Amino acid sequence: VWSPAELSECAKYPFTDRAREVVRTVNFSIDKVDPKVLERAKQRVLAGIEDGIVRPEVQSSSETILLNEILSFPVAKIVVSLTGDRLVARRYADAEANAARKFLAYEKPQVIKEVAAQLGIGSSMDFVAYLNSLPRDERFRLCHVSLAGGNVTVSPEMLPDLIAETVRLRLEQQLAQKPEAPATYQKVAAEVKAEASSEKLLGFKEVDYGTVDASAFPPCMKTIVAEMQAGVKEGHQGRFVLSTFAINIGMPIEQIVEFYRPTPNFNEKKTRYYVEYSAGLRGSGVKYSCPGCEKMVSLGLCRNKDSLCSTIRHPLSYYAKKKKTAPAQPKAAKGAG
Ligand code: SF4
Repeated sequence: VWSPAELSECAKYPFTDRAREVVRTVNFSIDKVDPKVLERAKQRVLAGIEDGIVRPEVQSSSETILLNEILSFPVAKIVVSLTGDRLVARRYADAEANAARKFLAYEKPQVIKEVAAQLGIGSSMDFVAYLNSLPRDERFRLCHVSLAGGNVTVSPEMLPDLIAETVRLRLEQQLAQKPEAPATYQKVAAEVKAEASSEKLLGFKEVDYGTVDASAFPPCMKTIVAEMQAGVKEGHQGRFVLSTFAINIGMPIEQIVEFYRPTPNFNEKKTRYYVEYSAGLRGSGVKYSCPGCEKMVSLGLCRNKDSLCSTIRHPLSYYAKKKKTAPAQPKAAKGAG
């Protein structure tokens, strides 16, 4: 028998051993999932990928509500895995990690320590394990932590971020596996995927590029930008075509560099050089042009085509056509780029 306080804690931290124990004690079975739990899991995933954070109901005094919250976590993981979409998985893992970080910000040090211990994080950490769960924040770089005998000393202030990063990394690994699951899960996964393919859920944010109209970007470029905004490590080809596309529509170098900022291991100096190189301002002086649609298809970068795509043969033509037909963007009309 679990007290409401214990269930509430498990709903906040569903990745802990204690929460897994709750799931075991209620005899949860993947084959006999309660439709309410499945629906809650779907909402958990959609809210996570849309808002960047999950918001489980943890204040309730109802045992049923708290239990459904706890169960929605393993079910949501199955649903996300079944989508087979790495962007959805990445955004969902981030959203769970962000929720953990937010809850931990209000906890007493003892609770934070207990949650950390359940993830195997103590007052010191093996150097390699530390590197593997290194939060992206500058404070955690090796030059700022104390290292002795192959171990990194973990201070209490570091715990919330280390916990969140560990949750994120473990989830990413788990979500990369495709489990066997009943058709009901497959259906929910397909629904999630259908909604997640919209630009909103992909996280494409329109930014004021002066005279450049981001809403007129072709779907292929929006997809690359969205992946970068979600922190996905984009391949060389993807980075190159986005950069050449952006240069060719007249986007300033400074703003192109900003596309790359959320990506892992972002290095501003190298990125600026790379973008300037593509623009012909460095190296050979050649201004590279953006590949046409046929080439984009062969590179596997023609993604999320829409009806306008069937009328053009080049992403730049798409942009020009869309910009001409789209109503004037209030943001775009404001200033020079
Ligand atoms: S058809 Fe061309 S413009 Fe449309 S998504 Fe594919 S590559 Fe981009």
